[in-house]
Amino acid sequence: MGAIQDVIEKVKQRDPNEPEFHQAIKEVMETLVPTVKKHPEFVKAKIYDRIIEPDRTVIFRVPWVNDRGEVQVNRGFRVQFNNAIGPYKGGLRFHPSVNLSIMKFLGFEQVFKNSLTTLPMGGAKGGSDFDPKGKSDDEVMRFCQAFMRELYRHIGPDTDVPAGDIGVGGREIGYMYGYYKKIVNEHTGVLTGKGLEYGGSLIRPEATGYGAVYFAAEMLGTREIDFKNKIVAISGSGNVAQYAVEKVNELGGRVITLCDSNATIVDEEGICGEKCDFVMELKNIRRGRISEYASKYKPAVCFIGKSVWDVIKEQGIKVDIAIPCATQNEIDGQHAETLVKNGCFCVAEGSNMPSTLEAIKVFQDNNVLFGPGKAANAGGVATSGLEMTQNSIKLSWTREEVDNRLRMIMKSVHASCLDAAEAYGRSGDYLTGANIAGFLKVAKAMLSCGIV
Ligand code: NDP
Repeated sequence: MGAIQDVIEKVKQRDPNEPEFHQAIKEVMETLVPTVKKHPEFVKAKIYDRIIEPDRTVIFRVPWVNDRGEVQVNRGFRVQFNNAIGPYKGGLRFHPSVNLSIMKFLGFEQVFKNSLTTLPMGGAKGGSDFDPKGKSDDEVMRFCQAFMRELYRHIGPDTDVPAGDIGVGGREIGYMYGYYKKIVNEHTGVLTGKGLEYGGSLIRPEATGYGAVYFAAEMLGTREIDFKNKIVAISGSGNVAQYAVEKVNELGGRVITLCDSNATIVDEEGICGEKCDFVMELKNIRRGRISEYASKYKPAVCFIGKSVWDVIKEQGIKVDIAIPCATQNEIDGQHAETLVKNGCFCVAEGSNMPSTLEAIKVFQDNNVLFGPGKAANAGGVATSGLEMTQNSIKLSWTREEVDNRLRMIMKSVHASCLDAAEAYGRSGDYLTGANIAGFLKVAKAMLSCGIV
């Protein structure tokens, strides 16, 4: 534990104002303890000290003009964390909460996640404190162009390939890609999540949500159960949540919750069929609030100002499977205790770090099948990797082909977690397995490449 504990302490001292980054470091590093004994060469080469420090962090000013002609100034970030196994790869987040701590925790997680996918991708993350909510299309376009005006010099198809994340969907990727193409004068796979007409991959929009459900299905399979007739709580109502709902319905489960940052809706009859189309139109086209769902579909109930996990706690709602798909730290220790008390036996993290360290402990202590984000939501970046391959070979694969590859990758991520957990004496512990499996490949690559 010595070498690991020193690293955790060093991060806290060096970057005292980065709580989310500390949390991610602690969660990962403590599970890597068994690797220290087996790999003294990692300690000697200071791999543990090196892997927690980003290769580089770029912070930049993003000035743009709103519809009233007023100058606005936001802050842009790109944290290129580690490119030991491939070009940097990771999403861009546009949300007012974005700061350096959140960018670094996401970039750090991405290193391990990308390694787990089996594809050659390093880890990065970026974004801005810009809030697309309530902005006109023209304002979003002007912001995206201003953001790319600086970002373009740090990225490239073999250097760093950003994608979407919270607040960055097809519209934003389109505006950023268009501007990159204009100033660099190259039509290359520099961003993923592109539209089908200009180099995107089929299944990329669906991939994170589908992948999380495929991962959950694999976990359930170890206990010989499936989604049929299970009650499923999903949070968020954005990209990941929407396609998680679609896949759960396909596998016979009943999704009863969704939320956004204003409200949670509970529909005990199940969010399915035409109701899913309504959510997609509401969130993706009209960019409205989830509370409208409860006005339209009467048996549904709306809880303003509450998260899905607050509502489950306060209303005592029974849940078999939880798939958080909103944001970090949405499930705390008390939420986790309630979920367990109400019958939840499986948690697959669609969002990044949705469970606090206390919540994870509750799940693990109660034998809940717990799939950490870096494994369960790896389907998104894996399919981005498939988009990069299609761009490189200048071919497009069919929907079936991409979906099959996604399914195989999620199976392989699941198996890698279990194998690594078993090999390091933590049988059935997906968190330890994901961290160790992701770490070993990166650590060995770093060792081979010398002190750089
Ligand atoms: P979207 O922006 O499409 O959707 C996010 C959803 O979560 C929205 O409904 C949003 O509500 C809600 N939300 C965000 N913050 C909060 C909050 N503080 N409290 C309550 N609700 C909130 O993002 P994605 O679906 O793409 O991302 C969701 C999560 O999945 C993130 O953690 C992301 O990092 C992770 N992820 C995404 C991947 C992808 O491919 N997109 C890949 C891997 C992980 P509102 O509409 O009010 O903003």
